[in-house]
Amino acid sequence: MRRIAIAVSLIALCCTENVRGEIQTLYRGECFSEAEAAKKLEDFAAQFHTRDEWQARAEHIRHGILSGLKLARLPPPCPLKPIRHSLHKEDGYTVENVAFESLPGFWVTGNLYLPVEPKAPMPGVLCPHGHLADNRMVEQTQKRCAALARMGAAVFAYDMVGYGESTPVDHHHSETARLQTYNSMRVVDYLLSLGNVDETRLAVTGESGGGTQTFLLAAVDPRIDLSVPVVMVSAHFYGGCSCESGMPIHKNAERETNNVEIAASFAPKPQLVISDGADWTKNVPQVEFPYMQRVYRLFDAEGNVENAHLANEQHDYGPSKRAAMYRFVAKHFKLDLKEVQNSAGAIDESFAKVHPREELLAFPPAKPRPAYAVADGDEVIMLLDRRK
Ligand SMILES: [Zn+2]
Repeated sequence: MRRIAIAVSLIALCCTENVRGEIQTLYRGECFSEAEAAKKLEDFAAQFHTRDEWQARAEHIRHGILSGLKLARLPPPCPLKPIRHSLHKEDGYTVENVAFESLPGFWVTGNLYLPVEPKAPMPGVLCPHGHLADNRMVEQTQKRCAALARMGAAVFAYDMVGYGESTPVDHHHSETARLQTYNSMRVVDYLLSLGNVDETRLAVTGESGGGTQTFLLAAVDPRIDLSVPVVMVSAHFYGGCSCESGMPIHKNAERETNNVEIAASFAPKPQLVISDGADWTKNVPQVEFPYMQRVYRLFDAEGNVENAHLANEQHDYGPSKRAAMYRFVAKHFKLDLKEVQNSAGAIDESFAKVHPREELLAFPPAKPRPAYAVADGDEVIMLLDRRK
């Protein structure tokens, strides 16, 4: 409920802002009524009728996100120089504390979960999170990562910019969305650098603000093979935070789109949209999901997109939402669901150990970040402009 309160407090800011002297049109928060948003989807749908027409539109959507996030040109990838320590051996999986450099002197902080006996090559799963303090370490995140690892995947849970151990960039910096999306791309690099991760089975899944990170990465990074955005795909809500809608990814002089189309641009690859009855995803079965099915149908791939709608549930990544995700990932990545099922076939996460925060820190007091860490948030953002 706390996360809903945070989001609702931010939904009134929309439309035109002046950033660094530039006029930008930002679609932010709840810019449209539900009826207006449904009509907007109808208008979008009238603009494509064939696979080729959609693919051209999807390419515009991708380009619009990358240029809106100032990521059309990426800096040369720096060495990751991973720091990895504190191996915890649990029932069927392990968890370690990890930091790596996405930019020189700036670290992505997280936890790597692995099967006890990895069967190489194994799938990789990125687990971004939503707006809750220390969310990478809360019970719902630890359980989903533990279960995926026990099923046979390499799983990385990582802090949002400015959350948990992520310093020094403030979460509400005007270019957080840029850095956060770039960090996710570098998490893909990190998982592939492990040497035993299957580049044809890479997934991303997160809830709320982590759902936004999920469909943005899936849209712009062709290495992602499967996507599970949770409680976030909505026609009338564009994300209320600067990390979601603080840069002009939805509207520019040439085109206009919304998060439903951004998620649909992942077609025809496997995608499970998880929604609930108590937030901006309440209409998904009637409004957003049929739109996505129409796109997938153009690829003769309607079976690759599913919706798990929990009408009596709320805005979280709770047990039944996780269960739907496990089944979807297991089906498409050929993982062993029995590892997380009890004898009756129900999902059972009782094997998962929920560690206290201090046991999961990448930079605990005894292992602080290296002295060459960039200390100023603006300087970190400027590193994204490096061309050499
Ligand atoms: Zn945010």
